[in-house]
Amino acid sequence: MQRAEQITRCPDCGQQLRVNPRHVTWCDKCDWNVDPAPEVDRTPPWRRRLEHRLADALYRELESGTVHRPGWDAARISAHVLSGLILLLPLLAFLVGVGLLVFYRPLWLSGLLALLAFGIAFLLRPRATRLPDDIYLVHRDEVPTLYAVLDELADAIGTRRVAAVAVTTDANLWYAQVGWRFRPVVCIGLPLWAGLSPQERVAVLAHEFGHGRHGDTRSGWVVGAAWSVLGELQATFAEQHGDRIRREFGYEDPTGATLVSRMLNATIGVLVSGVAWLLERLAFRSDQRAEYLADLKSGEIAGSEASAHALERVLLADTSYRAMERALRFPTEIDPLEAVRREVTEIPAHEIERRLRVSRLREVRTDATHPPTYLRTKLLRSRPATSARLVLGIDRSRAIDHELQPTATKALAALRASL
Ligand SMILES: [Zn+2]
Ligand SMILES: [Zn+2]
Repeated sequence: MQRAEQITRCPDCGQQLRVNPRHVTWCDKCDWNVDPAPEVDRTPPWRRRLEHRLADALYRELESGTVHRPGWDAARISAHVLSGLILLLPLLAFLVGVGLLVFYRPLWLSGLLALLAFGIAFLLRPRATRLPDDIYLVHRDEVPTLYAVLDELADAIGTRRVAAVAVTTDANLWYAQVGWRFRPVVCIGLPLWAGLSPQERVAVLAHEFGHGRHGDTRSGWVVGAAWSVLGELQATFAEQHGDRIRREFGYEDPTGATLVSRMLNATIGVLVSGVAWLLERLAFRSDQRAEYLADLKSGEIAGSEASAHALERVLLADTSYRAMERALRFPTEIDPLEAVRREVTEIPAHEIERRLRVSRLREVRTDATHPPTYLRTKLLRSRPATSARLVLGIDRSRAIDHELQPTATKALAALRASL
């Protein structure tokens, strides 16, 4: 029988290390082997250094002072101006089209050019956020306890109550304002949800509602709408799946249609990516600040320690998903979500610490949507501890799981069928 714990020495600093065969052996003194399978990162070192500096500067600013709403600095103003321009383009194209039809002759030529202008206007039109197809909506009467908790949360934070709750088998949890009426929707990812303790659930939800309160789901309406335009354009002018297969097999399209689409991708596609890149960097500071703000809001509502814990749990989202997938592929008498719960609670603190440090190495990117978890938990813990304003008891938390069970069963069965 293998001993549960073996001892080895760190090859770099000689510190004694405990070996747990289920997890990575690493040194918490000198970070030896902290990231045994680093992601292939093609970022040039100067840019990585710059990004680390930006993240650190923002963090220090927040740590030393009071965190308030993102101010109107030059970058934020530029982000709004750029977004405004993107949103004006379809209107401009439309007006040009109308102008051509009214004032320009011969009519056949103006008609043709106007058609082009209208086409561009149509392509660039802003879109309302839609719900994805692979989610399961749950109604108020199916999950009354969950809606009651969400309503309490919304009231405590001072934001609108949700119009709908959705469930997915992805390992995440999100909040979105859907449609042109911007109705708030919360989507709960089952594998993530299953691994959270009751108060951690409050924390994760409070973070999302915190965004709703500040109206900063991707920096508010103007920037958000510009993103919707850019997102659609990127999807349209990215290399299509078929193009890639054809290229990989060296198949030449005799009609030249591939050539045209490749030319469009190389021009418009690259241009759109460039604008998206710029907008991302302009919005970087205010986006990241909004994340920290939502974290502090979460700490206020759920208690700072629960919020920090919840962030560490979210770091285990991959592990949760894999545990669920394994349980679906090789069914036992244990419920897949129960398997997730066991897997996540068995992860030792030493392994969680390792992942936090990895987050520091990997997540400091100006195109990352969140600041590194390492810094987020540090900010929460660097402030005076706050106690919870909203407590979710274990009974109510279980009641929620019970209410979600029928939908979860349906969602998991669909996922199992697709594996
Ligand atoms: Zn060491
Ligand atoms: Zn967030």
